[in-house]
Amino acid sequence: MILPEPLQNLINAFERLPGIGPKSASRLAFYLLRAPRDISQELAEALTDIKDRVAFCQECFNITVAGRERCEVCESPSRDGAVICVVEEALDVLALERTGGFQGKYHVLHGVLSPIEGIGPDDLKIQALVDRVAKGEAKEIILATNPSMEGDATALYLQQQLEPYEVRVTRLARGLPVGGDLEYADQNTLLRALAGRQVMD
Ligand SMILES: [Zn+2]
Repeated sequence: MILPEPLQNLINAFERLPGIGPKSASRLAFYLLRAPRDISQELAEALTDIKDRVAFCQECFNITVAGRERCEVCESPSRDGAVICVVEEALDVLALERTGGFQGKYHVLHGVLSPIEGIGPDDLKIQALVDRVAKGEAKEIILATNPSMEGDATALYLQQQLEPYEVRVTRLARGLPVGGDLEYADQNTLLRALAGRQVMD
């Protein structure tokens, strides 16, 4: 059976999202088809709103309100620019902020190195991190990429890139579930990983 074009378009659009396969994509599209109109309307507005009203911080690439150059953390005078915690996604910033145990600043890479998916250093905010470190304010860089194969490889690559600079490079302590995501770790586990961070060598 050939689906009407608008329906097929929606299914295709859902399928491009991470974690959504053909089955889920169809289920979501058919759900919206029979749901009240305001559900689709709200979804459509929310989808354009995030593009119009949310932006990325020009310093650390965390999320911020559109029109503002820097995020709340970078703007805050009480945050310590000598310690920068490098994470994969802005979601990880939220997870670390929830612990209340980190007073430094962040740097969001927007992904990890993944040769299989064709993601190289230039696809991530790596040069921007090196530039930040080169300015000399940072004394410690905490590599808080996920404890996965890609996360570890990315941390190793970053360590090499930061080698020429006078900065301490540390990695979150083990204890986070291997292969797990920072964003799903509970607060105590995250705090322990932060407190037990070790110098990479
Ligand atoms: Zn920022």
